[in-house]
Amino acid sequence: MEDLFDPGERFAAGAQWVAGRPAHGRSDRSQAVTDPATGRELLRFPQAAAADVDEAVAAAARALPGWAGATPVERSEALHRLAARLAAIAGDLAYAETRQCGKPARLTREFDVPGTIDNTSFFAGAARHLSGQAAAEYSGDHTSCVRREPIGVVGSIAPWNYPLQMAAWKILPAVAAGNTIVLKPSELTPLTSLLLAEAATEAGIPDGVINVISGSGPEAGERLVTHPGVAMTSFTGSTPVGRRVAELAARTVKRVHLELGGKAPFLVFDDADPEAAVHGAVAGALINSGQDCTAATRAYVQRPLYDAFVAGVADLMAGIRLGDPRDAHTDLGPLVSFAQRDRVAGFVDRARGYATVVTGGAAPGGHLAEGAYYLPTLITGAAQDSEAVQSEIFGPVLVVLPFDSDDQGLELANDTPYGLAASVWSRDVYRAGRATRELKAGCVWVNDHIPIISEMPHGGYRASGYGKDMSVYSFEEYTQVKHVMQDITAVARKDWHRTVFGDRA
Ligand code: NDP
Repeated sequence: MEDLFDPGERFAAGAQWVAGRPAHGRSDRSQAVTDPATGRELLRFPQAAAADVDEAVAAAARALPGWAGATPVERSEALHRLAARLAAIAGDLAYAETRQCGKPARLTREFDVPGTIDNTSFFAGAARHLSGQAAAEYSGDHTSCVRREPIGVVGSIAPWNYPLQMAAWKILPAVAAGNTIVLKPSELTPLTSLLLAEAATEAGIPDGVINVISGSGPEAGERLVTHPGVAMTSFTGSTPVGRRVAELAARTVKRVHLELGGKAPFLVFDDADPEAAVHGAVAGALINSGQDCTAATRAYVQRPLYDAFVAGVADLMAGIRLGDPRDAHTDLGPLVSFAQRDRVAGFVDRARGYATVVTGGAAPGGHLAEGAYYLPTLITGAAQDSEAVQSEIFGPVLVVLPFDSDDQGLELANDTPYGLAASVWSRDVYRAGRATRELKAGCVWVNDHIPIISEMPHGGYRASGYGKDMSVYSFEEYTQVKHVMQDITAVARKDWHRTVFGDRA
């Protein structure tokens, strides 16, 4: 991947995008965007203060009547133009995402960017398909119909693991449904959200429809969540912060959409294809350096396959090529930050006290020592109630545990507070089919783990949150349903008036 631009120069006009223009934040604190592969600063920007959030919300509120009043065709065409614009700047998007996150170029070019463009095309089409119940005379005397109306100004908060895709998942359904939005990306990774907002302006989406605020969670994030002019909070991030956001949003009775953490089980029955299961587990655990809310984190393997599975995973992990994320041969880049690398190392170091670290479990040496790298790590022998099995590590770490009966495997798979995703591996349609019913997760894969598509919903059960991203289901989140009931009899004294006037009705 070539050097396409200097982020310091590219974003010199500011890391905020408000009312169709870049702007500088007015907080007295500044924030660095750092290349986690080298530790070098790419950009330093003044953070957004509460006043910047207020300005962005005001811009979104000004844009709301025009955008909500646009026809579905007009909104659809604008999003189609945005998809075309994103395709035109695909290289810049992949470059910025790789630089700010340390993601391998293969991942940003083949997954993050095409996924975002496809999502944009999907919502461009879906904007014309806001459906509801058929209008009918349910009472006999009235025509009832349902209107799906935008909610208003949406305040969205996103994490750093897939900044571009998370921005798209937040922005697209909201604006396709006629809302306007203020998005706060993670302060670590604002670059691709800014490029997306700029592309929207270039595509002719009116100023103020899409605004980006780059600031800290406690300052800009909390202002956005508590702002009286914001009608809805849509949050993707960790479960503890999601709880805090829901509590804050309750004060102004906002609608809340929460996409939170995960600890996805990977359930391997003894009739599974061993090669498919081993490859699926390593790919599912290591994608995006394991910083994926649906990553395969806990593999439960039925006893007859257990030893071979552990050996196969260890062998495959040993062949993973860590390196410069811009190199097309690199399989695994660094974690997003040194803080995240140290957090992951902390989990693994504590696990040595109660489990076996079979492979990995350290930061690599040599020239990679200057980046936030961590070796692919396999842990066995951990108890079901241990931290490594129960907590979200969010790094390239897979824990493998054995089980005996199908019932026991399913019980263990469901035994964490989370419920975002799960997978089952079997060649027996009946076993796999039963598992899809029993697994408590918003997405269950059969003989695969990770793929997502624009047409299908993504969202959690239990501590993984509520609400759906992507697909037409996300319109449920970003619209409110109004029942319109229109009298068609022209009768002045209705039958039901008897309940008030009695015989005088
Ligand atoms: P965090 O919860 O730490 O942060 C998420 C966002 O919330 C960031 O923009 C952060 O701002 C902001 N924030 C932090 N504190 C507050 C606050 N008090 N009020 C308002 N906003 C706040 O998550 P990470 O960024 O560490 O992302 C990783 C987490 O995201 C994992 O738990 C992962 O599972 C989850 N995730 C879930 C997905 C899903 O679809 N369910 C998808 C992707 C990730 P800042 O950091 O800039 O201060």
